[in-house]
Amino acid sequence: MNIQETINKATITLKNNDIKTPYLDSELLLLKVLHKDRKYLLLNSKETLSKEHLFQFNNLICRRKKGEPVAYLINYKEFWKEKFFVNKDVLIPRPDTEVLIEEVLTIYNNDKKLNILDIGTGSGCLLLSILKERKKFLGIGVDISKKALNVARFNAKLQHLDNRVKFYNSDIDKFFIGKYDVILSNPPYIKNFDLKYLDKDIAAYEPKVALEGGYDGLSKITKVINKASYLIKKNGKLILEMGCDQKNEIVKKLKNKKFYINKIIKDYGKNDRCIISTKI
Ligand code: GLN
Repeated sequence: MNIQETINKATITLKNNDIKTPYLDSELLLLKVLHKDRKYLLLNSKETLSKEHLFQFNNLICRRKKGEPVAYLINYKEFWKEKFFVNKDVLIPRPDTEVLIEEVLTIYNNDKKLNILDIGTGSGCLLLSILKERKKFLGIGVDISKKALNVARFNAKLQHLDNRVKFYNSDIDKFFIGKYDVILSNPPYIKNFDLKYLDKDIAAYEPKVALEGGYDGLSKITKVINKASYLIKKNGKLILEMGCDQKNEIVKKLKNKKFYINKIIKDYGKNDRCIISTKI
């Protein structure tokens, strides 16, 4: 079978298993097997695939049709302006999280020497994307998962940012190092009860530790706010991602800790997603 026929057949298989982007997924998985780029597929669509490549590809399609996310199968996800290495130890970067980056870049529109802390850094996608855009920023990433930090460190190396970032393996409750101009966090904010209703791609494959926000979804974000209030400099900014129905509760918690609410921003799906506040 040639490249085009192979992709078409796999697309039908994925479609029959309710995969939402069957053609794109088939292409990405074939590119992974061939170690080529998309242009190659277009220019060589009549080329016959070797038995070995076909075997590897069918194996990936079989995993994909059961719901395993493409990003874990190809070990990367594009986020902001880079490709980030990902595996099952980290949450797959979401386009909605890019809203936080846009905000940071708008607030800090020229390069100053600022200390920035990312709580629950995961793959490091948020912190590293910002460090790439602002060459004088210095970053600290904290995560409770050692395995996630291995991924973040690897991404920092790949992007040549390892000289401006440090990672610490710690529960945020036990972290006391430094004072920061900017604190970022995309903490786990899904209600435990709702976890099983997420897409099967998410629920069965992504790390629970990156999603579970306790019975009300707010337990981790509360820890972040409480600790940020201690770690942040006066007039420093706290920039949080949150669940779309959590705005009122979070505003209350921030005000209690003497944060002034600057702005609430919606994601690409028009849900409240990001809240910006200043320590007063
Ligand atoms: N936005 C993610 C989702 O929809 C959740 C991320 C998080 O809990 N921080 O699955």
